[in-house]
Amino acid sequence: MKEVKCFICGSPFLTPTTGKFCSIECKKEHKKNVNREFHERNKEIVNKKRKEYYKENIHIYKERDKKRHKENILNREMQGESVRKRLIGLTEKEKKIAEIKKEEKNIKKINYIH
Ligand SMILES: [Zn+2]
Repeated sequence: MKEVKCFICGSPFLTPTTGKFCSIECKKEHKKNVNREFHERNKEIVNKKRKEYYKENIHIYKERDKKRHKENILNREMQGESVRKRLIGLTEKEKKIAEIKKEEKNIKKINYIH
């Protein structure tokens, strides 16, 4: 066992091998730094590749956003908020019903104004 200083936080610790980090947190921090440096060095290539991937797989992101939106609405409803239902994530039939209801609401509004 030899005592070495942590590469990240500088605190001394004992290691039987050639350890550089005192804890898993410090190891994660180091990995984060390495990744950040890599991104900084290869920014243009990485961003270009991510943009291309996004364009080719846009449906994945749209699907994910829809799911998140639905979950958000559910969460807000669970907390007792009255959430206006949007057309996102509804079936064709539900969309038609929602549109009819919206029109009825608008007619009521117009009648109320005049
Ligand atoms: Zn450390």
